[in-house]
Amino acid sequence: MNGQVLHSDVKFVPGVGEARARLLERELSIRTVGDLLNHFPFRYIDRTRIYTIAEATNASETAYVQVRARLMGVSYAGEGRKRRFTVIAQDQTGRMELVWFQGIKWIEKRIEVGREYLIFGRPSRYRGQLQIAHPELETMEQAQSRKAESGMQGIYPSTERISSSLGTKGMYRIITAAWGLLREPIPDPLPAAMRQQYGLMELHRAYYNIHFPQSAEELRQAQYRLKFDELLGIQLNVQSRRSARMAKQDGFLFPKVGEVFNTFYNEKLPFPLTGAQKRVIKEIRQDTITGFQMNRLLQGDVGSGKTLVALISMLLAVDNGFQACIMAPTEILARQHYASFCRMLSDVPVRVAILTGSSKAKERRAALEGIASGEVDILVGTHALIEDRVQFANLGFVVIDEQHRFGVEQRARLWTKNLQPPHILVMTATPIPRTLAMTLYGDLDVSVIDELPPGRRPIQTYHYTDSARLRLWGFLKQQIKLGRQAYIVYPLIQESEAMDYKDLTDGYEAVSRDFPLPDYVTAICHGKMKPADKEESMRQFKEGVAHILVATSVIEVGVDVPNATVMVIESAERFGLSQLHQLRGRVGRGGEQSYCILMSGEKLSRESKARLDAMCETTDGFRLAELDLKLRGAGDVNGTQQSGMAFDLKIANPTRDVQVLSLTRDAAIAILEHDPTLSRAEHHGLAELRRRYAGEEQIDFSRIS
Ligand code: ADP
Ligand code: MG
Repeated sequence: MNGQVLHSDVKFVPGVGEARARLLERELSIRTVGDLLNHFPFRYIDRTRIYTIAEATNASETAYVQVRARLMGVSYAGEGRKRRFTVIAQDQTGRMELVWFQGIKWIEKRIEVGREYLIFGRPSRYRGQLQIAHPELETMEQAQSRKAESGMQGIYPSTERISSSLGTKGMYRIITAAWGLLREPIPDPLPAAMRQQYGLMELHRAYYNIHFPQSAEELRQAQYRLKFDELLGIQLNVQSRRSARMAKQDGFLFPKVGEVFNTFYNEKLPFPLTGAQKRVIKEIRQDTITGFQMNRLLQGDVGSGKTLVALISMLLAVDNGFQACIMAPTEILARQHYASFCRMLSDVPVRVAILTGSSKAKERRAALEGIASGEVDILVGTHALIEDRVQFANLGFVVIDEQHRFGVEQRARLWTKNLQPPHILVMTATPIPRTLAMTLYGDLDVSVIDELPPGRRPIQTYHYTDSARLRLWGFLKQQIKLGRQAYIVYPLIQESEAMDYKDLTDGYEAVSRDFPLPDYVTAICHGKMKPADKEESMRQFKEGVAHILVATSVIEVGVDVPNATVMVIESAERFGLSQLHQLRGRVGRGGEQSYCILMSGEKLSRESKARLDAMCETTDGFRLAELDLKLRGAGDVNGTQQSGMAFDLKIANPTRDVQVLSLTRDAAIAILEHDPTLSRAEHHGLAELRRRYAGEEQIDFSRIS
């Protein structure tokens, strides 16, 4: 049975086995044969095209090159005297190096000097020399015996570890093997009539063509079909939720503007609200007096003052006898919200508590008991808020800060904290075009803060390489003398965490040496520190005791120290655009001119260069988001995370496939109108599709690069 084949462990695919199966799971979340077949190429190369060395020099992507081996040998080079095997290869147009660091014995036996080979890999430049590391290699005889189909071969998203275990073409090989295991066609969830109505290829054929295109036209149809299914799956969910919500009139009513709000607004407001903040508060207020349950997405660039809007909305809930809570993605951010709420709400008759994963027994008890008895009005916290033991007496309003960090399921668990669902405000600095957000979320209304608080000077952004470090240090000292503070941020990319921490601690030591006590105080903050130590570092920096904070991207979200005027981002080329923008948003929060310095190595890929240039050119988050989409290939491994949704889309890109998106939206509405529960026999497949895209996964949209 096919169902069984698709669900069986990927280790049974010929050529995979235990070790590679573990790697596939860890690196690409591929567990089953079905997962493997759902791993789609992100582009196709023409394998009938063979490059000369001169042409390969300009090829930025994987290519076939026909070369003759001229010289070969083993050498030891670099740190740790790593063993490498090098072949010098040649054709009429030039020469190049092929290198191997692993499997040397094996490859050594397969290469003969003087013989011609067809090699396949990604050319790069190393010390001015064209090079391919770990290429695939065939003799010309082997190459000629391969049968050419359409000439198009899929290139699969991969990771460094996967390619070094499987080789450049390894993914293609195991997917071919997995396909060979199928005993019957892949079941099609769409009724035949619907396929016909929308001109869709059968699913089985679509899968075949996405992996093994028979022609350019069939590939196009295959892509269209697979995109259609993904977006339809999402739309079936979105439209079902929307109609369920609209059918009910069970939103809490907040008609009253009372003592809490008035005291705060008249006596405590630290500054006049911007026009945009006022407008959004009005929109929220409008929602909470209609009887519908509010589900609102608040978009506003970093530093636009979303927190204050959240606080004021929560006060309105409290005035009407309800509790409110705000969930932040990190401990640091939750503590910061808590501290600023306590400060702003002194003498306002409202009680605030905090609950996080590292709350001590006393704090935890105070929060849990206060919330259950109704004594606490506003609870600030992290994920800890969604734990079952957090029982509210009467939760009426929920704020989710930096929503891109939370999944749909986590949001859903918050709205079941009361018998009747509370009003929900989700806030994000990751802009999604308005129309797109409405189509995607469907059940969310959208508010935008499109105005920064007055008096902000645009941050000046510069890109430096290491040769300018002395100058940079001089600049930092000058700023510190003026009484300002600086962040120095190191990348934290999960694949090589240990190395990242080493960079960070080395950096910290260097900074401490170059900025010696007693004139300079440097603090450090990263995810591996104990919460208490982290907090202490943050406190030192906030209170101005520390002049420099060396940190990982832990500080990326939300931290607010208006006196900090310099943001130095080390190895900036390793960050994605939206992350760079978030980081930059940590400065420029006071009235002083602020600076963002992007440090990078000398050599940059074209894409990294474009990212850093964009940062230097504009501070507009919406423009950067658009650029980011443009720069990124449609199907790179991380690309799916960008779409701004909690679904792992493999092929559709809602920003680009707008037409398919609106078709599937109409299709979903039409189907649900006649069969809202999708219980008709011919709709079983659709029901399954809806379940598959119900959106349990949590994707961290800030880790985009
Ligand atoms: P974000 O939208 O990124 O969450 P915050 O809510 O952290 O932004 O606000 C950024 C900074 O702007 C904070 O220091 C906050 O106190 C300040 N701020 C917010 N609203 C205003 C306003 N209307 N006028 C002046 N400063 C403001
Ligand atoms: Mg914020």
